[in-house]
Amino acid sequence: MRLRARTTRSTVAVGLGTAALLAVTTLPGSAAPPSASADAPPAWSSSLAAAQPSDAAFAAAAPTCSDTPRKLPINEFTDHRELAVELDRIEEVSGGAVDVEQVGRSNRGREIWSARVGTGEKVVLMTSEIHGNEKVGTDALVDLVEWMGTSTTPKAQRWRDELTLVAIPKMNPDGAELDRRGNDQTWAEVQARHPQLRGAEPSWNYYDTPRTGDDYGSAPGFDTNRDYNPDLSYVPQPEDFPGSSEEAGWYVTPEASTVRDVYRGLQAEFGEVDTYVDLHHQGACYVMPDDPEQFVTLSISGQFVADPSTKPEYAEYAEGYDLEYSKQLNVAVNQALQKAAERRPVLGNVTLYPQGLDLPGTGLGSFQLNGSGAVLFEIRGQTQSLGQQYRAMLTRATYVGLDGLMTSVATGRVADLDPAEYDAIPPRGPSIGSAEQADEDARVLRSAGVDVG
Ligand SMILES: [Zn+2]
Repeated sequence: MRLRARTTRSTVAVGLGTAALLAVTTLPGSAAPPSASADAPPAWSSSLAAAQPSDAAFAAAAPTCSDTPRKLPINEFTDHRELAVELDRIEEVSGGAVDVEQVGRSNRGREIWSARVGTGEKVVLMTSEIHGNEKVGTDALVDLVEWMGTSTTPKAQRWRDELTLVAIPKMNPDGAELDRRGNDQTWAEVQARHPQLRGAEPSWNYYDTPRTGDDYGSAPGFDTNRDYNPDLSYVPQPEDFPGSSEEAGWYVTPEASTVRDVYRGLQAEFGEVDTYVDLHHQGACYVMPDDPEQFVTLSISGQFVADPSTKPEYAEYAEGYDLEYSKQLNVAVNQALQKAAERRPVLGNVTLYPQGLDLPGTGLGSFQLNGSGAVLFEIRGQTQSLGQQYRAMLTRATYVGLDGLMTSVATGRVADLDPAEYDAIPPRGPSIGSAEQADEDARVLRSAGVDVG
């Protein structure tokens, strides 16, 4: 791809009352160059390491918080076209360090790209925006790839020597463009692609009625994050439909199939995929368990499926399954955020996502069964509840966590982290949103039998 335009955006919070809640975009060309000196997590503005005027409003738990879907501005986020320009630019300025490749296409034909950087033996796969209304992860991944591919610091060099990062930002571009959770695919299209499914009923994760403010009636789609199967060579069989949240998925969505293909390719190349990170958002109104006056900035987790030693269906995966390593990775994320919170307290509002999950149809569940250390980020607020509010801060928080993870793996320090520290991360407190909230996250968990309070 040819370099077209520099679109890097720098954001500043403005201290004008409620206007401070919205980040303001500066024009292309005025963005500060990435810092080449600091060993701290890089940022487009070093001031992001310090508390911002809008942090207090972000963290102050207000009873007016609501997950009721509404239309809010989202143009600050990187859309599909902008992502193409950004990845093109990063590939160019990295002088060959970053390799951008189209790895698949969405159901509506949009490109799905991977950005690969580093030559190390440990592979870290990261994906974002599998739910198209969960957008911060994409911006954080673009920042991470750019820094790793362009920084001249010893730290970045070490990352490049020890790690191979493969990022697939915006892996569900159709859902992202529609700004909704599901992809854009009808059951009839699935059947056309897989003729053996003629006569089968749609999978349980097929949306064809309105939900969270989105009209799936006229444009149905699937929760792509229930379409994975730990058997990476699985072919859809009619008797496996409609399935359920306790069962594996089918790879009927081109988006999940694309990520699966990348994962298999990395397995073939490296033997195993050391670490897998998936970046999500949760409801906007969860509070800290020990301080109901403070909102949760993000929740993390390293547990997605039942222990294979306790479940006969998973027996073949028992050997590679390593929950301790997933816990250590999460500890690295949390330690980095707690350290950053010394200067910017809002970054320390980290909780543990509900545990006891058994969701083999999620990317995290399927890849964890295949032996990867797995990390979930659940960033505060989806677009239907927060829009682009706090984008810069939440991108920063995500970035800091990812930076801590990458550094701990690159240095090998992750092996020394105490998994018990994971269990000591405070559990997510309750949501104080309005009673009629449409919290998809909680609904999904309840359907999986998890007590979410
Ligand atoms: Zn999600």
